[in-house]
Amino acid sequence: MRILLIGPPGAGKGTQAVRLASHLSIPHVSTGDLFREHIAAGTELGRHAHTHIHAGLLVPDELTIGVIEERLARPDTERGFLLDGFPRNLAQAQALDGMLAGFKSRPDAVLDLEIPEDQVVRRIAGRRLCRQDRTHISHVDHSPPEVAGVCDLCGGELYQRDDDREATVRKRLKVYRTRTAPVVDHYQAQGLVTTISAHGQVQEVLHRALDALGRGRADAAGTST
Ligand code: AMP
Repeated sequence: MRILLIGPPGAGKGTQAVRLASHLSIPHVSTGDLFREHIAAGTELGRHAHTHIHAGLLVPDELTIGVIEERLARPDTERGFLLDGFPRNLAQAQALDGMLAGFKSRPDAVLDLEIPEDQVVRRIAGRRLCRQDRTHISHVDHSPPEVAGVCDLCGGELYQRDDDREATVRKRLKVYRTRTAPVVDHYQAQGLVTTISAHGQVQEVLHRALDALGRGRADAAGTST
């Protein structure tokens, strides 16, 4: 299955993407994570990306599309993938359509996570990531760690992303409205979009997403937070 996960910052894309990809046994491909890996490794691409990410702006298309082309060329994506955070504008959507057309394919489904903007800032302000494994995400209110500042899953140090500060989040929301929302329209015209509410507990949203994909209910024991 080739799935695109779209939604504003704070909709819980990363949290859901990890669980969905694991449930469906397909790789989770996140442009945000790929950029953060480059930044942590101190690459030239990472330095360019950081300037834009830090400012709450999109990383230029030529860098972003290049990163995705390289990732989707790896053999593990042959049986499908879940794209989290790509495409984020129409040019990227067209580039992806072109890449997939090369394999005589297209996305099977586009999940559009919906959340009221007033909830976004609250959600993001409390989000904490683990330094050892960025897929370990907790929230100071909704899923607080047993020991403050320490990841429950692996004991890593929890930290706040620098682009999760309120002013940057507001800018990211504006970028989402103007640049990314048209991507939903693009795939809507192809009949591929299901919009699901991102409101509620992680597990509830996961159930909605799996239902939308026609993949039934998640095994609560294996996927709860
Ligand atoms: P995310 O982890 O998906 O919230 O992405 C973090 C940041 O990385 C975004 O706010 C953008 O600055 C950048 N980014 C991630 N994906 C893309 C993309 N598809 N196009 C441009 N910039 C991106």
